[in-house]
Amino acid sequence: FFAAIPPAPADGILKLSVLSKADANPSKVDLGVGAYRTDDGQPWVLPVVQEAERRLASEPSANHEYLAVGGLPALTSGAQKLIFGADSPALAEGRVYTIQTISGTGANMVGAVFLKQFKPQRDAAIYISRPTWGNHRSLFQTAGHEVREYRYCNYESLDLDIDGMLADLRAAPPSQVVVLHACAHNPTGIDPTEAQWEAIADVMAERGHLPFFDCAYQGFATGDVDRDAFAIRLFAARGFELLVAESFAKNMGLYGERTGCLHVVVANAEQLPAVSSQLNRVSRATISTASAYGAKIAGTVLQDPALYREWLDNMQTMSARIKAMRAALRSRLEALHTPGDWSHVTSQIGMFSFTGLSTTQVAALRDQYHLYMTDDGRISVAGLNSHNVDYVARAIDAVVRA
Ligand code: PMP
Repeated sequence: FFAAIPPAPADGILKLSVLSKADANPSKVDLGVGAYRTDDGQPWVLPVVQEAERRLASEPSANHEYLAVGGLPALTSGAQKLIFGADSPALAEGRVYTIQTISGTGANMVGAVFLKQFKPQRDAAIYISRPTWGNHRSLFQTAGHEVREYRYCNYESLDLDIDGMLADLRAAPPSQVVVLHACAHNPTGIDPTEAQWEAIADVMAERGHLPFFDCAYQGFATGDVDRDAFAIRLFAARGFELLVAESFAKNMGLYGERTGCLHVVVANAEQLPAVSSQLNRVSRATISTASAYGAKIAGTVLQDPALYREWLDNMQTMSARIKAMRAALRSRLEALHTPGDWSHVTSQIGMFSFTGLSTTQVAALRDQYHLYMTDDGRISVAGLNSHNVDYVARAIDAVVRA
């Protein structure tokens, strides 16, 4: 049965993490992993999450029963308001169904399997940005879709190639599915401006494309949950039907608890019972029910006004530290007169920065300086801290001049 199966291509990020873990050099800096780190380089359990955990532990009726197929209502109802806004017309009109998923990846997957059966055109392809999160292509292909790319990054200026993006979306056949990063685009950190989002929405409407938002960094990107939901709310306000995959991995630090939701907005509330029952069926067939513990934590935080406010503060702490590290790296590179323009380090947002370093420079940084980043030159800014940023800047300076 199994003799003819070729090995799967190595996953760049997982390979990097193995190499980095095996490197015992004290100068090592891991800028690969997409997880928040404190200024001491440690994982951070959000104080608001610790408080929610204390409350959950003291509940006399706490148990480990299954959740319902749709998930924990405290989570799904809170997550809807977070994404669409408490005053969202789509929510008021009963046009949104939300199902709990296995974090953002699971939300993408439930959406992908659902669309395989019910996408606007039977032969519609899934359009992903070039570049995109390393798992998008594999995920949508695994669900049986044809995957195509639209231009996104101008690799010269390290800015958005808005003309290329609009041209590709316009040239695509009508009624395709377009995956859009809601904020803090991974891996580039380059987001459209509000005016550019309007232009993207114009073309999407003109061509009848279905937006599939991937929202893995709401509140983590700018520290402002409403600002980070701008694109989703714009498309919803303009009457699009759409999907949103939402992750609580980064913004609540619940990575391994696998907490997320998939939201589907339909044109007419009458369509909701059929759509929700199909989504429940897909989820039941693949995971049966989602994970309970992270959902209880996130549900507690989202439903309690005081905890919710504390969560917004905790997100500010993370996003402010990341912004400070962007500024620190840029100013050190500029002080060293490192050849090149480093303004993109601070104009990009979110966890990642697309440095523009070549694969050869990335390899030199790894081999000579014990500095780990993905081959495309993406760094996780969360891996920088006040103890290592000087070293990182000097290492980058040296390989750029080599
Ligand atoms: N989409 C994007 C764009 C991401 O960056 C990530 C996290 N790396 C995810 C989805 C999914 O993450 P998770 O499954 O951990 O929520």
